[in-house]
Amino acid sequence: MDRRAFIAASARIAALTALAPLAACTQAPAPLRLDRDPFTLGVASGDPLADAVVLWTRLAVDPLNGGGMGPAPVDLDWTVARDEALTDVARSGRVTATAELAHAVHVDVTGLDPDRGYWYRFRAGGIDSPIGRTRTAPAAGSSPQQLRFAVASCQNYTQGFYTAHAALAREDLHAVLFLGDYIYEGNARGDTVRGYAKSDWSFSQADYRDRYAQYRSDKDLQAAHAAFPWIVTWDDHEVENNYAGGIDVTDPRNKQAVFERTVAYQAFYEHMPVRVPRPQGPALKLYRSLSFGDLATFHVLDTRQYRSPEVPLCADKDETASGYCAASLDPKRTMLGTEQRAWLVSGLAASHATWNLVAQSVRFAQQDSSPTPAVQHFDGVDNWMGYVADRQVVLDQLARTKNPVVLSGDSHVNFVYDLKRDFSDPRSPTVATEILGTAISSDSDPTPPATQFDPSAKNPQLRFFDNHKGYVRCTVERTRLTADFRAVSTVRSPTAIVSTTATFVVDDGTPGAHRA
Ligand code: FE
Ligand code: CA
Repeated sequence: MDRRAFIAASARIAALTALAPLAACTQAPAPLRLDRDPFTLGVASGDPLADAVVLWTRLAVDPLNGGGMGPAPVDLDWTVARDEALTDVARSGRVTATAELAHAVHVDVTGLDPDRGYWYRFRAGGIDSPIGRTRTAPAAGSSPQQLRFAVASCQNYTQGFYTAHAALAREDLHAVLFLGDYIYEGNARGDTVRGYAKSDWSFSQADYRDRYAQYRSDKDLQAAHAAFPWIVTWDDHEVENNYAGGIDVTDPRNKQAVFERTVAYQAFYEHMPVRVPRPQGPALKLYRSLSFGDLATFHVLDTRQYRSPEVPLCADKDETASGYCAASLDPKRTMLGTEQRAWLVSGLAASHATWNLVAQSVRFAQQDSSPTPAVQHFDGVDNWMGYVADRQVVLDQLARTKNPVVLSGDSHVNFVYDLKRDFSDPRSPTVATEILGTAISSDSDPTPPATQFDPSAKNPQLRFFDNHKGYVRCTVERTRLTADFRAVSTVRSPTAIVSTTATFVVDDGTPGAHRA
């Protein structure tokens, strides 16, 4: 990463704003000069297509206090080049950052060549941004031999340093999949290794914006964004712990929840390099698919916005003969909502990809976590175990889909599962694989660290458990998908060593993972 030159200049934004009405009718506005670095939050790119990629930055001279950019719009110039020195320019242009979007910009740069690396930079107020690197996807009709990506999630800022992001940024990847809990709302909780700038959280628009800004001020996270395009979805903590969005937004009793969603979705949009429409109040359409030639398609889900409220934890008397919690079987309950579920099923059915990667936030597999082996208990009413009917619709489609692999987060540990056509029947065939990646930092270091290859007789679908912090590095080839579980030695200090605790492989045409 090139260092940017810091250019001091004379006029402050506030002074410029005050003068603007007077100057408007007599002369052209003077070019904005900034006396402080506005690129404190770094740069990012995302949602790569064969001919396009979204570039992102947010101007913030005072990032932890609303950004400090004042009410006036600010023009940014952007450059996309084929070389790191930015001499071989492919595209360039100008975009206006407005206070309405916290001076964040999304530039959907089109007209790019497929399957190649680019470098990009913004410039505002006489100051250059850091240079980011990105990459377009292979063309629709092409047959790439390899796709390398990382799966990351759950980066609680106070519970750990981003040593995993520092390691991730050094990998050789085409993209990063981030599967939720990009921020954690509220005040610091649990084991705290570094603090929040503000300790009086109140679910306001300013609170969410400043929270994203503090996370994005981390240099290791900035490096991971600047190194690769990201493909992002969210989980609960982008709004509130365990929230379920499938509520009647017109019901006055939901007024506070609707307000929180509105400001949280706004702040998410402002800080993520996503190709999605701006949120409209408490609604943001986030589910989408992205393809890498005919090798792989990511079906990116939103498992929060449309889900039915959680059912209570299941007592023994509520369990059915099959072991499921009776309330979780209610066919009216939905994880995806009817529209998204239909979109996913038809997208999987129509896919010609060799690998179909369902990227989403919470555990998909059934898991019996009870201490007593005879009774199936439910530790996960927040995950797909509380939404059995929707899950079965997806499982039935996965059984008809080529090489389906579900990618998940949320648990803060690593799991690998064989996904059964019918989880209530142990003899049911394996129809897909789930790779659930650990947290970047949430819950801090494991105490004690544990890696198990045969975790439990009562969960034969579970192939692997590991509780280190880190990320999963995946390599997709025509014949196999390889998942390397990358672990950092610690998140309690700013630097760590990274190692691979295990490698699992899914072979083309054979659902389920085995150890390499
Ligand atoms: Fe989390
Ligand atoms: Ca979560």
